[in-house]
Amino acid sequence: MRDLSADSELRHLSLNTATVRKQGDLLEILSAAGRHGISCVSPWRDQVQAVGLDKAVRAVREGGFRLSGYCRGGMFPADAARRAEERDDNRRAVDEAAALGAPCLVLVVGGLPQFSRPGSVPIRDIDLARDQVEDGIGALAEHAAAAGVPLAIEPLHPMYAADRSCVNTLRQALDICDRLDPDGALRLGVAIDVYHVWWDPEVYDQIARAGAGGRIHAFHLCDWLVPTKDLLNDRGMMGDGVIDLPRLRRAVEAQGFDGACEVEIMSDHLWSRPMDEVLATMIDRYRTVC
Ligand code: ZN
Repeated sequence: MRDLSADSELRHLSLNTATVRKQGDLLEILSAAGRHGISCVSPWRDQVQAVGLDKAVRAVREGGFRLSGYCRGGMFPADAARRAEERDDNRRAVDEAAALGAPCLVLVVGGLPQFSRPGSVPIRDIDLARDQVEDGIGALAEHAAAAGVPLAIEPLHPMYAADRSCVNTLRQALDICDRLDPDGALRLGVAIDVYHVWWDPEVYDQIARAGAGGRIHAFHLCDWLVPTKDLLNDRGMMGDGVIDLPRLRRAVEAQGFDGACEVEIMSDHLWSRPMDEVLATMIDRYRTVC
């Protein structure tokens, strides 16, 4: 297991730019990251679009940044009228990830069609939504492989099943990978986010399964606060909650994962704090509690 306390150059830390999304645009976030010695980031599509893809690519290159991922593609479930929009949108996400040099495109796969692709005819059939997710990933996989951008399915906590992701466990995500990409040639894999998987009694078995298949593309860190006051925007800084972060990291690294520990915290509280303060705390916690 890597010793993060000795990582003076922050070689294994990545900043998911959602963590400070309210404090500045992507260019401001990159320059703050640079000030703090952070050299790896994972930007979000809306943040890239806000400054323009060309500018974002240039800022990443000129700042000497690596990426640990690109957030996000997905939201596959859609009614027939919105299917083409979904397919185009996801192919564009792959192309943007390739332009930015991202090592994977994170997929938040979507829930029921009316929430994944608003305007879709409402349904209650979550099995159908799950079928649409698998079809959508299957339809995207060749394009992604050709672009050299591995797809990383991120299972989300079941409280998001309706609106954000009907893939809620690592087992489900890996089953999709195995069905669509049995020999690994398409490089389908998973993003393991501690926030979404820590509660799962199967998580350690499934991390081992993911590792054996070479399917761990990303590892996301934050913490689970008790009580959690908001379903989306009350995630905790590492060390402020109840997740056994070192145990999960040890399990992931035992599978040979040597990618970044990507800190991704959506938090109204942290968004109200100065960017430099959040980044300084994040670096401290990265070294002391992860
Ligand atoms: Zn995540």
